[in-house]
Amino acid sequence: MERLQINLGERSYPIYIGEGLFSRLQEIKPTGDRYLLLTDQNVDVYYGDLVMTAIGREKCHKYIIAPGESSKTMETVIQILSYMLDCQFTRKSVIIALGGGVVGDIAGFCASIYMRGIHWIQLPTTLLAQVDSSVGGKTGVNMPQGKNVIGSFYQPQVVVIDTDVLKTLPRRELISGIGEVIKYGIICDYNFFSYIHNHLPSLLTLEKDILEKVIYRCCKMKAEVVAADEREGGLRKILNFGHTFGHGLEAAANYEYYTHGEAVLIGMMVESKIALGMDWIDETYYKEITEAIEKTGISLDISHMDRELLLEKMLRDKKNQENKISFILPKGKGKVQEVLLPKEAVVW
Ligand code: ADP
Ligand code: ZN
Repeated sequence: MERLQINLGERSYPIYIGEGLFSRLQEIKPTGDRYLLLTDQNVDVYYGDLVMTAIGREKCHKYIIAPGESSKTMETVIQILSYMLDCQFTRKSVIIALGGGVVGDIAGFCASIYMRGIHWIQLPTTLLAQVDSSVGGKTGVNMPQGKNVIGSFYQPQVVVIDTDVLKTLPRRELISGIGEVIKYGIICDYNFFSYIHNHLPSLLTLEKDILEKVIYRCCKMKAEVVAADEREGGLRKILNFGHTFGHGLEAAANYEYYTHGEAVLIGMMVESKIALGMDWIDETYYKEITEAIEKTGISLDISHMDRELLLEKMLRDKKNQENKISFILPKGKGKVQEVLLPKEAVVW
């Protein structure tokens, strides 16, 4: 088991990473008078009972939401908060988020506003949530006007990453998480990128040692970036490599066709090509990047997408300035830099 201490401002909390950790939650969990286990229907089938038993059934209520992004709404939040009030949860109660990013975002948001804030713990069950959304404390929901536009920064008391749960994760969701893993290497650590590039097959077959090491490294890198810039002023922007194009792609496909990680993988490919065109990276490094992305096996063909629609979606991003699109592009190995580009310069 690995233990990583996250320090963000005045808040400090541990992330535990290892096999079979859910059955050891009794030793790890913070004390509460009662617990609300929030999970989705799919995850509940696999791990609901295990976690209920580990926490102690007498003190634990379970609330199950429908899986998928469509649950990430204010309506869901209100239903959960009402349920908690009806069951007389107190300021000393604890919310346990068991699931992917959707469950984590909703649970953290509920915890941040229930009785002005109660403790919560995160048990991320997708690779994407383990390496990305479980560090940084962003919580929230979508609105008809946009994604993640209502929410708060609210850190959990502890994050417990049980690597065993990835065995039941659909392959497409696993690859979605790998998109972010590759991203960390490109933005801040070329050696890590090479390691991933060489060990991708073992990562995809969930080899224990590699998995633990990779999740640990990703959480550490994200924690370092976020600690330096908790509220997204400057440095945190580097996490957006692959995301300007990726978000555009997701939006242009109505958030239905691509998973987030697939869109980021394609986004990294396109954005690296732009960097190559600007001489920010050389041909050899560009090839390494594209090879690593291809090895995931996802379809990289976006010829069916409408160019104008994609550009229009990218132009809507709040990071843009003066009608130019903000990109984070690789500039040398293991480094990235922001640049504002007019839409004519965005080629793929
Ligand atoms: P993300 O972390 O990518 O935001 P979601 O919360 O949308 O992911 O979860 C993606 C899908 O995977 C959902 O349908 C969810 O129910 C399912 N899921 C999450 N974790 C697991 C797991 N460990 N095993 C099987 N299915 C899972
Ligand atoms: Zn992302």
